[in-house]
Amino acid sequence: MTKGIIFDIKQFSIHDGPGIRTTVFLKGCPLSCWWCHNPEGQAMKPELILRPERCIGCGACLEVCEQGAILWRSGQDGERIVTDRERCTACGDCVQVCYAEARELVGREVTVAEVMDAIERDTAFYDQSGGGVTVSGGEPLAQPDFLRELLRACQYRGLHTALDTCGFAPWEALDSVRQYVDLFLYDLKLMDDARHRAFTGVSNERILENLQRLSREGHRLILRVPIIPGINDDEENLQAIGAFAADLPHLKRVDLLPYHRIGRDKYRRLGKPCPMPETEPPSEARMDEIAQVLRKFDLPVSLNH
Ligand code: SF4
Ligand code: SF4
Repeated sequence: MTKGIIFDIKQFSIHDGPGIRTTVFLKGCPLSCWWCHNPEGQAMKPELILRPERCIGCGACLEVCEQGAILWRSGQDGERIVTDRERCTACGDCVQVCYAEARELVGREVTVAEVMDAIERDTAFYDQSGGGVTVSGGEPLAQPDFLRELLRACQYRGLHTALDTCGFAPWEALDSVRQYVDLFLYDLKLMDDARHRAFTGVSNERILENLQRLSREGHRLILRVPIIPGINDDEENLQAIGAFAADLPHLKRVDLLPYHRIGRDKYRRLGKPCPMPETEPPSEARMDEIAQVLRKFDLPVSLNH
């Protein structure tokens, strides 16, 4: 049985494709976008999340940690529990004994059958709303075998499938799953390759090639463009996105997704630096202006305020 690592299953999702959906979040991503709002999806392994504000100082976690990663530390407000992430192996033992829910393990190994059990609880809602299942991440194509088996199982049950992808994967990986995908939700961020490398860590060459190829092959596509103030909302990038998108056959829509700050707290809880601590979301007026730029290319544009 093929296993994969996921970090969440979200039920009753209404922003990840048509109708009411269950979104399965796979862990692991080859990109490291500065604006990532799911940083817990980047690493392909379980990680420890800490909420020190909930800690009641019972010391139970310290008792069970065999790595000696949990310590008392003196500070101005007295002693408090701290965790040495260098020593932590993310075994999860401390999470089991923390009744204050100050500790959480994100990421777990699952079988396709286990995920299907969760998905099938909501089939009545899919039927009524025209919904289905969306696989997101992280980058789902980073686990191509698990992804393929999951999508295949969904289609076998007659469920509509959507794949939310950044498109950075070998064509062979996409080719092996695409027959099981009813709708691609495909991210497009920056058209300039040097800027794409600077802000995501990888070239956009493969991403653009895969997108064109999927489109040529007749797949249903929605482009998702995150709008990140100061990074990709300049006229040059918007014009380049508009021209590129207008050339894609079978493009259903362009969705504009405004940057939001929910990732900021997650970085802190994961013990990672937030690359954009000061950036604010774009205003609704600015999002409307950007939509107008893209509509001039005759593109159907949808705004998610
Ligand atoms: S078990 Fe939880 S509440 Fe108790 S000291 Fe550890 S982190 Fe704090
Ligand atoms: S996850 Fe395991 S290794 Fe890490 S702090 Fe908790 S008990 Fe220690």
